[in-house]
Amino acid sequence: MKEGENFIYRFGSGLEDGNSTMKNLLGGKGANLAEMSSIGLPVPPGFTLSAEICQLYSRNGKDWPEGLESQVEKGIHHIEGLIRSQFGGSENPLLVSVRSGAAISMPGMMDTILNLGLNDETVEALAKKTDNRRFALDCYRRFIEMFGNVVMHIPQDKFENVFERLKSEKGVKEEKYFTPEHLEELISLYKEVYYGQTGDPFVQDPFEQLEYAVYAVVESWFTPRAVTYRKINNISGLLGTAVTVQAMVFGNMGDDSATGVCFTRNPSDGNNELFGEFLINAQGEDVVAGIRTPVDIGEMKKIMPDQFKELSEIGSKLELHFRNMQDIEFTIQQGQLFILQTRNGKRTGLAALKIAVDMVKENLITENDAVLNLVEPVHLEKLLHTQLKTEQVYKEDTIGRGLPASPGAAVGKVVFSSEKVAESTDPVILVRIQTSSDDVSGMSAAEGILTSHGGKTSHAAVVARGWGKPCVAGCEDIIIDYEKGSVTNGKITLYEGDWISIDGGSGIIFQGQKDVVKPNYNEDFFQFMEWVDQYCNMEVRANADTPLDAERAKSFGAKGIGLCRTEHMFFGGERITAMRRMIISETEEERKDALSQLLIYQKEDFLKIFEVMGELPVTIRLLDPPLHEFLPEEAKEIEQVAKELRVGKEEFLRKISSLKEVNPMLGHRGCRLGITYPEITEMQTRAIIEAALELKKKGKTLIPEIMIPLVGTAEEFVDQRNVIENTCRRIFNEKNMKLDYKIGTMIEIPRATIVAKKIAEKADFFSFGTNDLTQMTYGYSRDDTGKFMEHYIQKNILPEDPFQVLDVEGVGRLITLAVENGRKHKTDLKIGICGEHGGDPRSINFFQSQHLDYVSCSPYRVPVARLAAAQALLNEESAIALT
Ligand code: PEP
Ligand code: MG
Repeated sequence: MKEGENFIYRFGSGLEDGNSTMKNLLGGKGANLAEMSSIGLPVPPGFTLSAEICQLYSRNGKDWPEGLESQVEKGIHHIEGLIRSQFGGSENPLLVSVRSGAAISMPGMMDTILNLGLNDETVEALAKKTDNRRFALDCYRRFIEMFGNVVMHIPQDKFENVFERLKSEKGVKEEKYFTPEHLEELISLYKEVYYGQTGDPFVQDPFEQLEYAVYAVVESWFTPRAVTYRKINNISGLLGTAVTVQAMVFGNMGDDSATGVCFTRNPSDGNNELFGEFLINAQGEDVVAGIRTPVDIGEMKKIMPDQFKELSEIGSKLELHFRNMQDIEFTIQQGQLFILQTRNGKRTGLAALKIAVDMVKENLITENDAVLNLVEPVHLEKLLHTQLKTEQVYKEDTIGRGLPASPGAAVGKVVFSSEKVAESTDPVILVRIQTSSDDVSGMSAAEGILTSHGGKTSHAAVVARGWGKPCVAGCEDIIIDYEKGSVTNGKITLYEGDWISIDGGSGIIFQGQKDVVKPNYNEDFFQFMEWVDQYCNMEVRANADTPLDAERAKSFGAKGIGLCRTEHMFFGGERITAMRRMIISETEEERKDALSQLLIYQKEDFLKIFEVMGELPVTIRLLDPPLHEFLPEEAKEIEQVAKELRVGKEEFLRKISSLKEVNPMLGHRGCRLGITYPEITEMQTRAIIEAALELKKKGKTLIPEIMIPLVGTAEEFVDQRNVIENTCRRIFNEKNMKLDYKIGTMIEIPRATIVAKKIAEKADFFSFGTNDLTQMTYGYSRDDTGKFMEHYIQKNILPEDPFQVLDVEGVGRLITLAVENGRKHKTDLKIGICGEHGGDPRSINFFQSQHLDYVSCSPYRVPVARLAAAQALLNEESAIALT
């Protein structure tokens, strides 16, 4: 430690070196204790060693940083001075608690140590001072146990066994009936355990005890358990953990003492009432350890009315001060209330909305605070989807874990085909190795979808998300056998008709019929979303392919359609037959004939979608997927489809085989289809423009946006633009009417981002297809990531699935390049994003930083995206204000 360097921040009695803005240095606990003390709340004095000591410790080769001792002593003298006591003193001994605390709470990383400073001598002094020998001995035995367990890593059960043995030996039912003599014996036995496990007698020097404890807290930051926790919860960029040392107050000093935890509002439903538990004559760990059953905080009103009133008042003061619902730890020592911790309380989605709306109405916070701090995107996500009741998550019923492809829980009977979905009168889960266009009708009628193959942007995932239907994709733990009609993980085997439950939010699948909680959003939701929209300057559109999707998108507040995947209109019924007829056409004539049938369907759909969306923008993408995706795969179906199309089976098989590609994702798809078969582009353009003209006749103003997929060169774009423009001219002549329209492109091939300037010269708008852009930047097939993604994440090769959260470093860099190049040429170039990342809060943060005009996501994610976009903007604005 360099001279003059200071790592100690005192608090208590108006002497605060820190405050609540210093969470990175002091941890949430230390920073808020200083803040509470500064506003005059009853906080026992103490000090916090800043998280920088973690870095020093690590730089020092995991050794005690030099000079820290004197700082610790300084801190102890600060407390001694304030409460007139002495650390290790034989008259009025100071006892302290030692706690860890990082800027982001990491529950379970390191437990608290209480009663530090007790030894064979000070315990007697404490007994004398309090005139309560039993209490002093009880504190000492607790301290030996905690110190032994937390600092010296002696297994807890070593102490517990001794404790239980003594209880039965002495015929004592509850620990509160231990006499001082029993406790003396227990202390000796604990010391023996300590000696047996460490080879040393129990540490008697209080400063040495404190040094050990601080060392243990710092060391806990580096344990594999803590490292894994940070990784799972995406916690990075922190300095480390701070260490808070605070004068002890005792909740175990008799029946006028207590300890407890409470929320300032009910965290389940948001009601404005204290919610929590407390224990009379106990110390904090008794509540956690479950040795005694805590009492509802409501009871405190009767038992300790004055303290309850004071606690309620402090709760209100804290809410106003921290502008959020608080989770408080408190202790009452002989009738005097002390606050030991406060932090923003965790809550359900329902409670989050109610608390946000109520606190604004109660003038405790502004609408801006509510949007930025009180509701998280994940709260909305949970609220909008059916959830499994958490207590129903039985480990032994777990069949496997796949990719959480579309949130929400679904329960139904296992079926393996669309026909079986149609036949069933019970709710069903469609279980497929992977899905294709053939499965769409079954997917639509099923409660949920489970696949053993495919990634987060596979057919199953994309379609399910669009419909808000739960989906677990790429669950490699299971084997699906269509012939046997079974799905198995090797231990549990389910057959068609057996119940299964899936959780698309976690990716876990369970055997059996689990209980669920239905989506629950009320006026608070709509009020809150109104505030959200005030702070959003990036539009949120929806990916919607049908009039029904469009209705849903609008009802969730979408400001337009950012992606209408036209291929999704050809699934099911007569439409797929017409599509198949078009695909197997040998001549242009035959193809045009089949297309004329598809034109009717498409025009009808566009008309309805335009009608639903009114004058809001609608971006329609021309046909994108490889054509063989529309053809059947299984023998039985091939035969049936051949009959429907009135072609011989052999001929049909030949056609199917001629359309097969080695790498379909990189094959004959996207604009390549329109370039080889311009009549497809012509038909789709005609359907869009004729539908729009019909509405124009009725007085509606709309500007259709036609989008060309998978463009890698400006020349590809120009080719298709010409086809579209020529078709429009022909239609305008035929109808003697005109209409404004836009022609833009998906940017989803890495090359397109590099030549964006050239493309921007010709295009009216860009929309990033981040699914394909991620696929082609990494070279990972988006349908095959299930096989390796989890290993990559486990081995730290990737921080998370880049198909879910945008890879800012790589794919993001390409996006920046394309935005800069595109806007260099056309400053007003409209740029959006319509890949799955458009609904992901962290990715939205990046899109806001690039000042995109809109994000587009599946309808059910629209509210989540609206909130994430507003929060991204507010954060950006406050960052600018700080510079
Ligand atoms: C994309 O690639 O991001 C995209 C939106 O298109 P699709 O998922 O249909 O390929
Ligand atoms: Mg794409």
